[in-house]
Amino acid sequence: MFEKSIDAYNKAKKIIPGGVNSPVRAFRSVNSTPIFFKSGKGSKMRDIDNNEYIDCVGSWGPLIFGHADKITVDSIIEYSKKGTTYGAPTEIESAMASKIIDMVPSIEKVRMVSSGTEATMSAIRLARGYKKKNLIIKFSGNYHGHFDSFLIRAGSGAMTLGKPDSQGVTENIAKDTLVADFNNIDSVKHLFHKNKNKIAAVIIEPIAGNMGLVTPNKNFLQNLKILCSENDALLIFDEVMSGFRVSRGGAQELYDIEPDLTTLGKIIGGGLPAGAYGGRNEIMDYVAPDGPVYQAGTLSGNPLAMAAGLSVLKRLDSEVYIELEKISSQIEIGIKNNILETGVDANIARVGSMMTLFFSSKERIENYDDAKECDTKLYSKYFHSMLENGVYLPPSQYECMFLSNKIDDNDIQKIIDSNLKSLKKIK
Ligand SMILES: *Cc1c(COP(=O)(O)O)cnc(C)c1O
Repeated sequence: MFEKSIDAYNKAKKIIPGGVNSPVRAFRSVNSTPIFFKSGKGSKMRDIDNNEYIDCVGSWGPLIFGHADKITVDSIIEYSKKGTTYGAPTEIESAMASKIIDMVPSIEKVRMVSSGTEATMSAIRLARGYKKKNLIIKFSGNYHGHFDSFLIRAGSGAMTLGKPDSQGVTENIAKDTLVADFNNIDSVKHLFHKNKNKIAAVIIEPIAGNMGLVTPNKNFLQNLKILCSENDALLIFDEVMSGFRVSRGGAQELYDIEPDLTTLGKIIGGGLPAGAYGGRNEIMDYVAPDGPVYQAGTLSGNPLAMAAGLSVLKRLDSEVYIELEKISSQIEIGIKNNILETGVDANIARVGSMMTLFFSSKERIENYDDAKECDTKLYSKYFHSMLENGVYLPPSQYECMFLSNKIDDNDIQKIIDSNLKSLKKIK
């Protein structure tokens, strides 16, 4: 079934580290080797062995309108005819900025970058410059891209200083990152208490999507906002995943909380590389050339990425979210029924079109410690069984499904049927 992919992988791994340009694609956490793709259309994608799958990953979020979406593709073609980059301002960058400001409640001014990592990295530099303090707090199990300061998890517990998660990250950088427990406000209080007037910002995925989908408990984000203002620290919502995904204005709109800074990525580029960070004028005015915090990029605000992203953002009206909710809730209900029928230890977490099926005996996954206890071997078997049944899932227990509005009734039925078959098989 995968001969050509295996062959392509064997060639690629000689010339690209691990054969991939981003580690999760290597399928290591599902004990396998990567599948190579050649095309996609709507809800489906096709690998180089010509197998077709219903895509439940959507390139990790960007593809809210599915593959090769006509309007997106046409915008890219139209813009590319005029040139691809000038290294000078274009009006489409202002159009993009206006659109973001219109959609995301807390943003008054926004700077475009080329990836989510760049957005979060720049946002914490800005927070540190603005507050003139060095420390940041992040949460265990939250991912903010691969910048040094974020490759830190909780060492022996939530209240310890950060230890690097990757070689090459110096202890000096790691010590400026403190790690708290998601959904545990006391762990944050404790860090503020121990580091009085030293914390510039708290960065959080308001809906955590990088340990599987973990939703915030009631009032957790509200209390976090209060703690930040009491301690003169900025609250940064990393909405690279949740932005434009869970609602037009992201998690901050859904839960009605305004962070000081917001980072965006994934959907914002419509499938091309783009990211952004933004917030109130007084903070954003600290960014160069107006302010003392330097940040730049040769291809920042690239007109093709702006054209693709804008063509998507323009169409994100409430209808789209109603449609996504309908598709996703049907799948959730179907899978829940299958769990009951088969008696497999599993639960499903969902916000809009983001969801994760956790193989765990817990009723709900609340934080990184809960997530770590999941049966990843079972997930791996489940993943491969779904693949054989023509459904492409994230190749890791600790990632979300991102559904597109191109998933039709047949796809929904096929996902639910394949899920039942797979749960029965792996039980
Ligand atoms: C994907 C992601 C990032 C990193 O974005 P890249 O474009 O991969 O650099 C940062 N934060 C969150 C929450 C993400 O999901």
